[in-house]
Amino acid sequence: MTAPRLEIDLSKIRQNTRVLVDCLKPRGISVTGVTKAVCGDPRIAKAMLAGGAIGLADARMANVERLRQAGITCPVLMIRSPMLSQVEKIVSSCDASCNTETGIIASLAAAALRQGTNHEIILMVEMGDLREGIMPEDLTDIALQVTRTPGVLLRGIGANFACLAGPAPTAEDMASLSSLADATEAECGPFVDVISGGSSANLQWALDTGAAGRVNSLRLGEAILLGTDPVSGNPIRGLHTDAFVLQAEVIETKAKSKLAPLKLSDPALSALSLVPGNHWKTRSILAVGLQDTDPAGLTFPAAVSYIGATSDHIVVETTNCPLRIGSEITLRLNYSALFHTMAAPDVAKVFRNSRPAADSGAASRNGRHPVLL
Ligand SMILES: *Cc1c(COP(=O)(O)O)cnc(C)c1O
Repeated sequence: MTAPRLEIDLSKIRQNTRVLVDCLKPRGISVTGVTKAVCGDPRIAKAMLAGGAIGLADARMANVERLRQAGITCPVLMIRSPMLSQVEKIVSSCDASCNTETGIIASLAAAALRQGTNHEIILMVEMGDLREGIMPEDLTDIALQVTRTPGVLLRGIGANFACLAGPAPTAEDMASLSSLADATEAECGPFVDVISGGSSANLQWALDTGAAGRVNSLRLGEAILLGTDPVSGNPIRGLHTDAFVLQAEVIETKAKSKLAPLKLSDPALSALSLVPGNHWKTRSILAVGLQDTDPAGLTFPAAVSYIGATSDHIVVETTNCPLRIGSEITLRLNYSALFHTMAAPDVAKVFRNSRPAADSGAASRNGRHPVLL
């Protein structure tokens, strides 16, 4: 089979979504599946929807277009602030977008009027991550402005945590988001339907909390795709962590001296450095490199350790188990390795268990409950 190859198990993605959806539902929180790490792949998006996600979100227009071209008609949210140069496309392909700039909102409104439609606005509030967001004290003014602008509808507010700089959100952070929703409604009327609490970084809070306040939506990518908590990097018990694996082929295996090239003048010293098992290890090369993935984000099998990478090679070391030329090594990926690999044209994408069967509830029937470790 062709290598390198990213093997994608769609039923595991569907089951992860189902477990999270079932667990958040009693807390009044719905799940929007985030497809940016998988370049808006429609097969993966459909697995999220089959698992109970109520809509999809992506950060790039090209990814949204891929979803729409595949016939996906569910609500799609643009989670990166739209580019002024793309407002026409945003309005025609996305039901809603996350926004922080009044100039961009005005331009979306004008595009919506030209297209004879309305575009929904989620206002993103700065709550400590210091990436995107309106300062909380400016929120009601901007919200009021949105409600008075023909062509756009104020759909809700949202926040983002632990992406750029901030720590994981606390119960107090989430309570302040709920109060901001109340304050906005007091000023603008009952227009704040969606309170989008954050990403996979919010799962700890959501699973711990008895009362989600007004937060009624999470935008989940990493937890669904990889079954991991982005804040700790730990697996979430009850979720599959191997929906994606990267297969790479071995193209060289040799014993190489750590001290090579040996240029020791004293033959006695030179002999000393060649004590077997001490200075010689078996090195192998995998035919995959920085152009295909983020090697630092890969997990290698137990007996294999990562040494380094160049554009087209990953060098590994093994003890007592030389890797056979032509054999394949199975690698796990973190979020960074996943999105680099998904975007790499020379990595084949192979889908498993793509049958559209709705096994909704199967995960819950197996007694799966997500638990952060
Ligand atoms: C990437 C992103 C998400 C999803 O984050 P995950 O950690 O993959 O769950 C949610 N919201 C915004 C604004 C994002 O940029």
